[in-house]
Amino acid sequence: MPEKFDAIVVGAGPAGITAAYCLARDGLKVVMIERGEQPGTKNTMGGVLYRQMLDEVIPGFWKEAPLERHVIDQQWWLLSEDSAVKFGHRNSEHDKEPYNAFTVLRAKFDRWYAQQAVKQGALLITETVVTRLLRDSAGRVIGVETDRPDGELLADVVIVCEGANTLVLEASGIKPKPRADAMAVAVKEVISLPREVIENRFQIQGDQGAVIELFGDPTLGMVGNAFIYTNKDSLSVGLGAMISEFQRRRVHPHQLLERFKQHPVVAPLVAGGEIKEYMAHMIPEGGYEAMPPLYGDGFLVCGDAAGMVIAVHREGSNLAITSGRLAAETVVEAAEAGDFSARKLSAYREKLEQSFVLKDLRQYRHLTPMMERSPQFLGVYPGLLNRALQEFLTVDGVPKRQKEKQILRRILKERPVTALLGDAYRMWRALG
Ligand SMILES: Cc1cc2nc3c(=O)[nH]c(=O)nc-3n(C[C@H](O)[C@H](O)[C@H](O)COP(=O)(O)OP(=O)(O)OC[C@H]3O[C@@H](n4cnc5c(N)ncnc54)[C@H](O)[C@@H]3O)c2cc1C
Repeated sequence: MPEKFDAIVVGAGPAGITAAYCLARDGLKVVMIERGEQPGTKNTMGGVLYRQMLDEVIPGFWKEAPLERHVIDQQWWLLSEDSAVKFGHRNSEHDKEPYNAFTVLRAKFDRWYAQQAVKQGALLITETVVTRLLRDSAGRVIGVETDRPDGELLADVVIVCEGANTLVLEASGIKPKPRADAMAVAVKEVISLPREVIENRFQIQGDQGAVIELFGDPTLGMVGNAFIYTNKDSLSVGLGAMISEFQRRRVHPHQLLERFKQHPVVAPLVAGGEIKEYMAHMIPEGGYEAMPPLYGDGFLVCGDAAGMVIAVHREGSNLAITSGRLAAETVVEAAEAGDFSARKLSAYREKLEQSFVLKDLRQYRHLTPMMERSPQFLGVYPGLLNRALQEFLTVDGVPKRQKEKQILRRILKERPVTALLGDAYRMWRALG
């Protein structure tokens, strides 16, 4: 007879660990099943971890967790082939405890976080792949099948937190295979550099951190972006774009990453570094419209598995953590009532509706499709802006009035007034 738990959590990423942590803390018998050798070994993110959402689960976690740097400097660079227009924000408030965000390396962070769930009483099973959900004759989910011999486990409820690659949901008929225009692929390298070199290059000191998002040339104008984040003694450097765009342009993400590191404004930042890790991972960017059912009889879906990513704000782990916490709250209420029906578990969706998670996902639901239909935003404007500034800042004896007219003429030649107004309207609509 398979072992029976109150809850089974599929996947030990931020969503799954949070759900397991909260359920174990509230006295439920919970098992977390992870396919990696350890939590974190299969996981990648840039990664910026926002404090608030995890602080709601483990107050003061940041005093103990293996974090890299607290982020005080955030920049957005628009790149042409050989130049950059830079916007940024450095904030001394973000330099004070309890801080706003941290850079993390997931191999270390997830392992630590999973240990906290285990300390609360959750059982962690690693190197085990969940292959599908088990159902009873009425179609209710009653457990999982794994790739282990005799590997079936039973539970009152299964919380699916398998991340972007939703093989369990697909095998269980809950979600179709995602479309290539709803999924991004990202590659990332961890490049080691001496601590003092990083601090000099990014003008930070101590545990201060800087993060840069780069748009335009790094992805050849495709919908996506590149990033450079400072860790203690390494940089996380990567880029990603929609899979459909990579297919259309017939380029490989790895080729683009190599090209990106040679860009004149990027090369000096990574010079002399040694590549320690290379990773590739998917990101569900289909947004609100591409979300699967979030609950059903005997199951809930959290985090990336549910498509909870807001790429424009570089947010995913915080939505995963919040959804894991709200799923656990729902399960505790269901256990008290002895009712794991879809009707009872629908409280999870209501909780998400009241939180920032569904509010933000709904607000940005038109952004990715709009960007895919409007290649000018990342394909034309970064170059246009760079050329305009280069011309304006080149002191060559041309009177300023004449220069302004030349710049305006050039801009209007590439994007006539009607197109500019149309783009502004489209962006305003897409940002809700
Ligand atoms: C390159 C990149 C950069 C990113 N940068 C940021 C960032 O800076 N900030 C941010 O907030 N978010 C970022 N994200 C998004 C963030 O990583 C995700 O939103 C977040 O990890 C989602 O957490 P999760 O627990 O839902 O899924 P995951 O972290 O993917 O965890 C899923 C877990 O389930 C396991 N698993 C999967 N299938 C099975 C199975 N069948 N059986 C058992 N175990 C299974 C996996 O091994 C994994 O451990 C980034 C993502 C990428 C790819």
